[in-house]
Order: sequence, then structure tokens, then C-alpha cells
Amino acid sequence: MITVEEAQARMGADVRPLPGEVVPLMDAFGRVLAEPVVARRTQPPFAASAMDGYAARAVDVAAVPTTLRVVGTVPAGATFEGRVGSGECVRIFTGAPVPDGADAIVIQEDTEPAGDGTVLVRETAVAGRYVRPAGLDFATGDAVLPAGRLVGARDLGLAAAANVPWLSVRRRPRVAILSTGNEIAMPGDPVGPSQIVSSNGPALVAFVIASGGQPIHLGNAPDDVDAIGRLVEGAMGADLLVTTGGVSVGEHDLVRPGLARHDLSLDFWKVAMRPGKPLMFGRMAGVPVLGLPGNPVSCLVCAMLFLRPLIDALLGLDRGGDGEVRLPLAAPVPANDRRQDYLRARIVIDPSGATAVEPFSRQDSSMMARLAAADALVVRPPNAPAAPAGTPVPVLRFPVGHLRV
Ligand code: AMP
Ligand code: MG
Repeated sequence: MITVEEAQARMGADVRPLPGEVVPLMDAFGRVLAEPVVARRTQPPFAASAMDGYAARAVDVAAVPTTLRVVGTVPAGATFEGRVGSGECVRIFTGAPVPDGADAIVIQEDTEPAGDGTVLVRETAVAGRYVRPAGLDFATGDAVLPAGRLVGARDLGLAAAANVPWLSVRRRPRVAILSTGNEIAMPGDPVGPSQIVSSNGPALVAFVIASGGQPIHLGNAPDDVDAIGRLVEGAMGADLLVTTGGVSVGEHDLVRPGLARHDLSLDFWKVAMRPGKPLMFGRMAGVPVLGLPGNPVSCLVCAMLFLRPLIDALLGLDRGGDGEVRLPLAAPVPANDRRQDYLRARIVIDPSGATAVEPFSRQDSSMMARLAAADALVVRPPNAPAAPAGTPVPVLRFPVGHLRV
């Protein structure tokens, strides 16, 4: 048996990022940058006022009260063409360029109109205060976002401010999904008395979308080598093939011989984890193949641990341990055996107001309702001793947000 980390490392070593494609800025949300975003302008492009008030020379307002002559006005979007001279000021509004000659902003609250085109200044103003110098935020040529970045709303705003209307992003990985099993019916189909409805296919479709990929649902293959071999032809040209079920050692576990109808180089590992069964990884006709267990909870936990990192690798995305935290246990857990355990758990607020993690008391790996109710997986390393409530433990949070998995 190999460890989860070893299996992840072997898969990661086998997959390279996909090429980039150029998309309009507003289509880039949720995509991964293939190239850095380089600013096409300096922001702010000029020294700008940060307040409504009067642009003046600091030397003229060093002693107050004093009266200045208002020689012009400059709202945002306009420019004062003249120069502020001794004893003069220009009415200015937030975002407007500070006129030549002026080096200070007297905020409106510190003034009052004094008639005859003059203003009374009651407080001193310091040079540079309330002035945003040109390039305060970024300058033309700055790489404002690095390659490999998952583009969020703030990033989109930054790229827009930098006047970059097109972004180079990784192509979405095309992930073909095949479920297998004589007993499997599709949701909504007539379901015989000894059949079960495929939860893995639909869940994996959503999982792939949430991970930034483009699913191709190939359907369900019966436990038949020819049928499996034919259906996986739909994965030719995909960036990844994911199968569920049929990867154990039983005589109805025919995914491997089915794939062997095509050019196949396959590793087949026993991974020391629970939930989870033998895992398959390799290539069929050049397409990376990940064989997940059929058991629905195992399938989705293994998707979290192996499919998501594979899609990340195709996207050139490093999530940097996002979602990995340590939290105190809200309830005791027993000692673990030699398999790394992933306990479905809820994140709770304990009586002291602290965040804690509470594994479900029953961890049967067929329980989909529990899996859906879980917020996180508690990681129990091999041979971990029994742990009382309060023990900090490693936790993998399910990603939250719009693209929930
Ligand atoms: P297998 O790995 O093919 O032996 O499947 C293990 C268990 O998972 C069996 O109880 C299957 O009925 C179940 N199973 C397999 N595929 C699916 C699926 N697509 N949806 C839900 N359950 C499945
Ligand atoms: Mg099966």
C-alpha cells in the first residue's frame, strides 16, 4: 500500500498545465491566468486629490487663518490648465488632477467662502497630504497579477483598472466521466428492484465544474469489457478520463480490461486510506486516467484528494493549502489503524465561542446524506492515537462559495 501523499505526488508528476487561450476580461472570472497581467497604464495616471476642497501651496496655508483667491475649479475628469500662484487656490474635487503649482489640499471642512472669489482657510494643510501621487497603485509595465492566479472579482477589477481587456487563461480541462456497473441506473430512469441510481456521475460532473474543468459525461457502462472499451472511446481527445466503480479485484471489476482495449499504461495502487479502495492511475491512448472507487462517499472523498489536484495541475493552479486548517475536536475520536482516515465532520462553534470540528459518530462510507451535511474532513493519520475533545487535528474544509463542492 502507498500513502495518499505518495499517490498525489506520482499523479502530479505525470501531468503538465494545458496551453492558454485569450478570453475577454469579463469571461475570465474563475479561470486561471496562463500569463501575468501587465498594467497598460499607471494608476493614478496623475497626482490626484483624495478629498473635496482647495488645491493650494502649503507655504500659503502654513499660518492660519488666511484668505486665498480661488482662480479656478477642477472636478474629476477635468484638468486645470493654469498654475496655482502665491496666495491662490483652485476648487478641487476627489479624483481630480492636482494643478501645477499646488502641493497641498485644504479640505472643504476647514474652509468657508469669504466672498468676492475668495475662501477663508482655518486649518493648516501639509504638502502631500490628501494627494495620491501618480503611480501610487501601479505603473505601466507592472505585473499586477501573476500567472497561475485563480481570477476572482477583485482581480477582475484590478485588470480592468490596468486597462487590460483580454486575459490569457488556461484552457478548461476537458474531463470525461464514466460510471460503471450492471446495477447502475441514471436518475429519472426506471429503476429495477436490485438497481441503484448513479450518484457518482452527476456528482462528478458538478465537481469538475466546481474545480474549473469542463465535464463530458460518457454515461454508465455495464460490467462488460466490450461495452467499457467502446464507451471510453468518448474520452479520446479529453484531458483526463475519470471512471467510477469496477476497479477492485472482483470478477465484475472490468474497468482495467475495458481500458486495455486501447493503448494502455496503467498503474494500479492500493492507497492506505479510508474511505477509499484501490485507485487506478495511468494513461489510455495518451489520456491520463483516474479510476475512482464506486462507493459514493469513497468516490467523492477520493475526488477531493486526487481529482481536484489533477485538475489543478492541468490548470497550472497552486491552491497553496487553501482549506487546510487545524481545529480542535468537539468530541473525542478513537485510535486509528494503519490507513489514513478522512472523517466526515461538521464545523461547529463550541460553548466557549471557538470554532471546532465535530466528526459524525457514524462514518459509514455509503452515507451520502452525511457527506452532503459535512463541512469538512478530519484527517486521521495512520496509527494516530485516540484523541480527546479539544485536541487540534488537521482538517480539510470543503470549498465554500458559489462553486461549492
Ligand atoms: P464497485 O467499486 O463497482 O464494486 O462499487 C462499489 C459500490 O459502489 C457498489 O455498492 C456499487 O453499487 C456502488 N456504486 C458504483 N457506482 C456507483 C454510482 N455511479 N453511483 C452510486 N453508487 C455506485
Ligand atoms: Mg461495480
